[in-house]
Amino acid sequence: MERENITTQPLTSLQEKQKEWDLAVFGGLRVPLNVYLRMMEEVDELRQAIDKEERRPEEILEESADIVILLFFIANAYNQPLEFFVQQKLSKNFEKYNPDKVQELVSQGYSPNEALQVLKEQWNGD
Ligand SMILES: [Mg+2]
Repeated sequence: MERENITTQPLTSLQEKQKEWDLAVFGGLRVPLNVYLRMMEEVDELRQAIDKEERRPEEILEESADIVILLFFIANAYNQPLEFFVQQKLSKNFEKYNPDKVQELVSQGYSPNEALQVLKEQWNGD
């Protein structure tokens, strides 16, 4: 596929496009648990793509896209925009794992992962 000719769209408009397709083909009835089980198969396909001796970035990204599309099904089952929750979660994570605080801990000798653990404990009030 010629990527140069594709313009990107906000996640919400992609989710709506997927919803239209799902309504036309399946009547829009998705059971979140069944979607989850299908997603686990896609997660395994992603792992296999990443695990290959000769990794193909396009294959890895295609399998990643399969997972996002299944997440659209779950969001659509609840009539909610996935994009909103992604934005909300990114903001929360940015606050929780503030890069300045991470850098400060790393400068004190923590590894980045240890720093995240410290900030997680602080966030949870442990
Ligand atoms: Mg797949």
